[in-house]
Amino acid sequence: ATPTAIMVATGVGANNGVLIKGGDALERAQMVKYVVFDKTGTLTQGKASVTTARVFTGMERGEFLTLVASAEASSEHPLAKAIVEYARHFHFFDEPSTTKDTRNRSKESKFSSWLLDVSDFSALPGRGVQCFIDGKQILVGNRKLLTENGICIPTFAEDFVVELEESAKTGILVAYDSALIGVLGVADPLKREAAVVVEGLVKMGVKPVMVTGDNWRTARAVAREVGIQDVRAEVMPAGKADVIRSFQKDGSIAAMVGDGINDSPALAAADIGMAIGAGTDIAIEAADYVLMRNNLEDVITAIDLSRKTFSRIR
Ligand code: ADP
Ligand code: MG
Repeated sequence: ATPTAIMVATGVGANNGVLIKGGDALERAQMVKYVVFDKTGTLTQGKASVTTARVFTGMERGEFLTLVASAEASSEHPLAKAIVEYARHFHFFDEPSTTKDTRNRSKESKFSSWLLDVSDFSALPGRGVQCFIDGKQILVGNRKLLTENGICIPTFAEDFVVELEESAKTGILVAYDSALIGVLGVADPLKREAAVVVEGLVKMGVKPVMVTGDNWRTARAVAREVGIQDVRAEVMPAGKADVIRSFQKDGSIAAMVGDGINDSPALAAADIGMAIGAGTDIAIEAADYVLMRNNLEDVITAIDLSRKTFSRIR
């Protein structure tokens, strides 16, 4: 293709909200064999919401949610945001209503005062969060986080988490003062176009793959819904780049589509890194393509554009 053709294609992409950083990236897309999708925020809407909160101790529900929200308040993770939002709503509607015009303000401030003081907060990538409230350790995250900290998960709790995972939800376990006190279920719906795009890629001869830090059971349930057969789950952030490299071993061209900080090593390792425009800046920087409309159909638009631009000279 001539420099003019590349310039025209880049312009067509831009008009469709597909930003292409350079002619090389544009050229490589036509040869793509694997498209590896991140799950959370890429295949899914990234708008997680709490669907279930079960307390196992005698603790009051509001107290449980306050503890968990306080622990998650400093985390940027979509799961954390969902939990804080849920607790905020719980307290908002829980309070007896006063006069109409002062209601919103007073409830908001009441909730803020309910958020407990937290010390020694740490976010543990691929696991959850840990901190101290009232001098006692609180852990909010997956099984790995709890077992690594020596917390035992009783059978009834494990069964409940399995039930959540089989319905494509993420189970979040909460331990306080060395004991499991409850579990939350979080759902993150698929993007509306996700399944159609996956089907479209298969028709184009491209193999769709899903990679996620989430657990195997949830991952498989989501993959089944979206029509992806090749799934890699419980992948730690650095592991996503290894997944990409494993596809490149025989010289195949692999694309990565992702939105998170976690995805940036994989976006950089991929032959074609595609960042969701609504994603984090770090992901956008690491990528060759930015999908500004946050619509997965643009993965196909990008490949089509490359094929049309370069087919004549091949
Ligand atoms: P993904 O690849 O799906 O974006 P992450 O690597 O961010 O996943 O997280 C993997 C898993 O770690 C999550 O599914 C969740 O179980 C747990 N996790 C991570 N951060 C948090 C958090 N702030 N609160 C609760 N759980 C978390
Ligand atoms: Mg993500």
